[in-house]
Amino acid sequence: MHTAADLHLPPPQQRLPFPYQPEAQALAAARARLGEGLDWSAAVAAATPWVEAVRAHPAPFWAMESLLREYPISRPEGLALMRLAEALLRVPDVETAVALTADQLGRADFSANDGSGGMLAGLSATALAMSQKFLPEAGESGGLLTRLGARGVVAATVRAIQLLGRQFVLGRSIDEAQGEADKQRKAQPQLRFSYDMLGEGARTEADAARYQASYLNAIAAIARRQGDASVGPEGRDGISIKLSALFSRYEDAQRERVHGELLPRVWALIEQAAAADMNLTIDAEEVDRLELSLELLDALAGRIAATLPRWRGFGLAVQAYQSRALSVVEAVAAIARRHGLRFMVRLVKGAYWDGEVKRAQEMGLPAYPVFTRKPHTDVNYLACARALLAHRDVIFPQFAGHNAGTIAALLQMAEKAGAVPGQDFELQRLHGMGDGVFREVLKDPRVSCRVYAPVGEHRDLLAYLVRRLLENGANSSFVHQLADPSVAPAELLRSPLLEAHDGVGPAEGLPLPRELYGAERPNSAGADPTSLDSRQPLATAIATTRLDPVPLASQADVADAMQRLGQGWAGWAHRPVDERAAVLRRAADALEARLPEFCGLLVKEAHKTLGDAISEVREAVDFCRYYAQQAQARLQPQELPGPTGERNTLRLHGRGVFVCISPWNFPLAIFTGQVVAALVAGNAVAAKPAEQTPAVAARMVALLHEAGVPADALVLLHGPGETTGAALVAHPATAGVCFTGSTAVARIINRTLAAKDGPIVPLIAETGGLNAMVVDSTALPEQVVDAVVQSAFRSAGQRCSALRLLCLHEGVADGILAMLRGAMQELRLGDPADWATDVGPVIDDEAFQNLQTQIARLRREATLIGETPLPAGTAVPRLVAPVAFELASVAELQQELFGPVLHVVRWSGDPAALVAQINALGYGLTFGLQTRIDSRAERLAAQARIGNVYVNRNMIGAVVGVQPFGGEGLSGTGPKAGGPHYLYRFCAEQCVTINTAAAGGNAALLAGGH
Ligand SMILES: Cc1cc2nc3c(=O)[nH]c(=O)nc-3n(C[C@H](O)[C@H](O)[C@H](O)COP(=O)(O)OP(=O)(O)OC[C@H]3O[C@@H](n4cnc5c(N)ncnc54)[C@H](O)[C@@H]3O)c2cc1C
Repeated sequence: MHTAADLHLPPPQQRLPFPYQPEAQALAAARARLGEGLDWSAAVAAATPWVEAVRAHPAPFWAMESLLREYPISRPEGLALMRLAEALLRVPDVETAVALTADQLGRADFSANDGSGGMLAGLSATALAMSQKFLPEAGESGGLLTRLGARGVVAATVRAIQLLGRQFVLGRSIDEAQGEADKQRKAQPQLRFSYDMLGEGARTEADAARYQASYLNAIAAIARRQGDASVGPEGRDGISIKLSALFSRYEDAQRERVHGELLPRVWALIEQAAAADMNLTIDAEEVDRLELSLELLDALAGRIAATLPRWRGFGLAVQAYQSRALSVVEAVAAIARRHGLRFMVRLVKGAYWDGEVKRAQEMGLPAYPVFTRKPHTDVNYLACARALLAHRDVIFPQFAGHNAGTIAALLQMAEKAGAVPGQDFELQRLHGMGDGVFREVLKDPRVSCRVYAPVGEHRDLLAYLVRRLLENGANSSFVHQLADPSVAPAELLRSPLLEAHDGVGPAEGLPLPRELYGAERPNSAGADPTSLDSRQPLATAIATTRLDPVPLASQADVADAMQRLGQGWAGWAHRPVDERAAVLRRAADALEARLPEFCGLLVKEAHKTLGDAISEVREAVDFCRYYAQQAQARLQPQELPGPTGERNTLRLHGRGVFVCISPWNFPLAIFTGQVVAALVAGNAVAAKPAEQTPAVAARMVALLHEAGVPADALVLLHGPGETTGAALVAHPATAGVCFTGSTAVARIINRTLAAKDGPIVPLIAETGGLNAMVVDSTALPEQVVDAVVQSAFRSAGQRCSALRLLCLHEGVADGILAMLRGAMQELRLGDPADWATDVGPVIDDEAFQNLQTQIARLRREATLIGETPLPAGTAVPRLVAPVAFELASVAELQQELFGPVLHVVRWSGDPAALVAQINALGYGLTFGLQTRIDSRAERLAAQARIGNVYVNRNMIGAVVGVQPFGGEGLSGTGPKAGGPHYLYRFCAEQCVTINTAAAGGNAALLAGGH
């Protein structure tokens, strides 16, 4: 285990501004940096002939850009193509491949109006045409469609996708790629190549070792072929590396491991690349690793300065879509200067735009870390280019992209800055993209261009191919518009400077994360712990949190409380619903403002990790705002239609005193959700938190009182379920019970209520689950493993929604289990206050002992798949290492183990039969499906008698108002928490009918006012 002290690591440092700044501010900075000197009309004049020349030689009909012009990804056909490209090649069994192909092609428009056969014909024609071009031995006349049934169509589709993919891959091996590079160089001597070894990010140490070996092998192969030793890295081929391929935990939270484990791997590559004097570039990845990547750059630069000071080939990529890109350029130049080095810096626009937008929305961040309007990215790109050119003493700029307007503007800026092409900077493009534009640009023999050249087998290229499909297919993309002759050159080359307006917010249709749910309900504000600015207050709060003792309620306290609440209820219930809703909104605002304090409580009392604590506070905030909004929308009196002379009004009102009993696993979110729902519906509430977590509950009750809930409308009663809980449930004044916990306790409550005399009292029970995930052979193993690790082991498996039973198709089970085993090795157990901890302790000794007993039983009865190592000599008590066992059948799973224990079964044949077995378990809380066959997902979701179904993602973390949460069968009564039907269950209904004609006649009717 690496510690900061062993590694002599200084404390982390924030080099860049806060990532989530208003877009207008970042744009203004970009404009200021760009200045006035750029003559866009001259750039248009330079680029127009390129565009015209490219259009004069359109790509052949089988090329990707042609196919995407015909079938853009905004249409079902294009989407089907993308889905097939992403999944089909990895499917091992014929049945599933046929099902996937039929599903996707079935959604597309098979029969184009012109009778040409639409999508299928397009794909098959592409397959045939390209077969003949690339694989002459595979050529055959157009018999594919006529000759074949399903298998033939699948074969044609597979071939089409393989060949589409080949447009973007220079070779299957580095030797093949180098051979191809040499051929291309014969026609265009200014070409250099930067090879990229394809694949998904590493999930295991074995993956990382494989990538490391493949990079080392590639560097050696490139070195062997290097020609003239005098030209330096600018004139030679090089390599591009992804740090996420070299280490499965390349994350800010794992800073020590990144320095201790990843850095030496990169260093080994650097030493070899430097020995061959070639360019080694670190690709740019997601925004949450940006600070970390600069820290690594600095550390590596220090080593280079010490041992390889003459090497000038080290570099990294910078993404201009990031609102902080200019600061990144300055930070990189400062690092180079400080170490007396020169870096090669590739400027790109950025490849993860959609992912960054989604992440910011999900995390409730104050703004997006990327520009949301394309012209803003374009302007920032030019501003960064200007900054890079100004740092030529320490930076060799490498301008990457395919946009003719951007390229012409760059060349103009470089010339004005006195930068000599080839000597002071180079252009870059992706293999298979922008060929036409660069054919024209490279007619100037001084300009040099480096081609980013992916190398790999079909299986490894799928994720990359999808990125290229998106880039070629997006309407906003230059290459897409270039392939569309209906877009006039002037439109294609319009100035981003004119389109980018200072002062505007994010793009239309893309609300800020805060506004995701409309103006009426602000999204809860989150925090991004990868930013030191956000992490610091959280760390301080955790370090200083003290848990206040909460007095135990006696039986007399229970009786007193019920009496007080009984008296207080009427006053609260008679307040207008708007007033009660306003109290909830005030509570939400206060809780949001006190996020660090409540995170501290959750970490200390419930042993939550930091990420889990933030999510939980946000969920509680969302509950307050959501139920406030729902109450105002749904609990107002409703006039009903009826005969004249009569008024019928339906009203909802509280039932009386509601008893809310909540569990320890979400001591803030579930506790708050129950209490505020009952309150806003007009009930008084006796709130009994779990015995293990009274302090969080007490602080929340105090907050609710401060926000305006009267003391006699909400009372906290802390005590054991068997006594305090039982007394509350049995109390004659109890008008309703809301319970979340085990099925066994829910049954006891149900029986107690049934045995009581007096009114029959409603029970809302949300209980456990034997939650399964079904994975078929179209799923992406990496995505499956990510989802499984999060769903089964996050929060130490102590969520009711957690994955308990993973069902893997036999065709992919071995591979996925090997990856899962490796990924489990990489999890870190420990103190939840430590940002690096993935899995903290379980809640108490009883839970710990029970899990130990059950795990010991499983060791005897089932087959161990893998387990996470316990940290040696840890002082943290009650750590249960995540563990996975294989069972022979679904039916062998008998009970819910509330901890990080995963069961796995294999399946084959009809997935509907498997879902029937899962249904037969009797629980119905959450269900995961991993498949690319959309119709299968729809069918199985409909068949599952399960409350929450998640397709192609993890199955935890339901969001209030977005994924209303709750199960059926043994998993609960409903209605769903955080859903539109919840509040009704807390209400009694009254219909008031008034005979408005009673006083002698129907005045309104006679007056003609009907
Ligand atoms: C040699 C090379 C190496 C590369 N290496 C990397 C790398 O290391 N890391 C990486 O992330 N990418 C990398 N890329 C991919 C690169 O990000 C895309 O190819 C590039 O963004 C396409 O830009 P363009 O100028 O060709 O096209 P354009 O069509 O002009 O620009 C498209 C780009 O604009 C941005 N964009 C799209 N919509 C919006 C919007 N609504 N608001 C704001 N911005 C938007 C996106 O970045 C999109 O990719 C590399 C590309 C090349 C050519």
